[in-house]
Amino acid sequence: MSIPKEYFKAGAITKAVKNWIKGRVTTGTGYLEICEDVEKEIIARGGKPAFPCAIGVNDVTAHYAPQPGEERRVVEKDVVKVDFGTHVDGYIVDTSVTFTDNAEYETLLESTERALNAAIEVARHDPRVGEIGRAIGSEASKHGFKTISNLSGHTLDRYVVHAGKSIPNLYMPNLPTLKKNEVFAVEPFLTLGNAAGYVVDAPQQTIFSLAARRRLGNTELDEAVQMIWDLRRTLPFTPRWFLENYTPEKLQAVLRELVKSKVVRSYSTLVEASGKPVAQFEHTAALDDGGLIVLT
Ligand code: MN
Ligand code: MN
Repeated sequence: MSIPKEYFKAGAITKAVKNWIKGRVTTGTGYLEICEDVEKEIIARGGKPAFPCAIGVNDVTAHYAPQPGEERRVVEKDVVKVDFGTHVDGYIVDTSVTFTDNAEYETLLESTERALNAAIEVARHDPRVGEIGRAIGSEASKHGFKTISNLSGHTLDRYVVHAGKSIPNLYMPNLPTLKKNEVFAVEPFLTLGNAAGYVVDAPQQTIFSLAARRRLGNTELDEAVQMIWDLRRTLPFTPRWFLENYTPEKLQAVLRELVKSKVVRSYSTLVEASGKPVAQFEHTAALDDGGLIVLT
């Protein structure tokens, strides 16, 4: 067994989109525009979005996908994370990059990227996830930064973004070891030394996924489940992708019912608890027969 070739295709598409995005996230860039464009670029290169492109500005750390009507634009002092992924036939890669025009946070971004590289180098020789976390934590502390303690990297599987093993952003004992042919994402999140250093749920939910393919005996809801399954299987989606079929109000109502009956799972926007800016860099890698391969 070796790494399915679809991972390499998804990786090549993701690398190309990452190159494409460089220089495009700057003061004045619209949140919605950047995510729509990232998704279009993935599709134009023959992939599909593995999950909705997420934009995390400053303390908004994860799981925020801009919706239609989102009018906010990046301003000069912002720290902007763009998290996106590609799937090819269900084989997923996941990546993220952070941008800022704010000189004050350049070191934060550099340390986060160094933490990612340190984690990859450790994984190459010692794929115990506790040790990968240790590398991230120690790189962060070199410049007095803190890692977000309750967010982690993860293994990936076909049509599954979080496949079971978590890769923490600091040392933790008694964790598993990554195995040959496992595909995994490493994603250090760093924040300021005086930050709380963990994320909490914000009220807004913009990302969803199908949790169970159960019929509810309500035509409208059952049709919605079928539609989600046809487009996404178990992969995450955002309401913006279904607006050809529904008015925004109707879609919200349908999703609310599906979440209530636990057929659909919702993901809250995650924000740094003390409101401090967070940087994130992420790679997907695989432990192939020949060693570790960075796919993104
Ligand atoms: Mn990601
Ligand atoms: Mn990830």
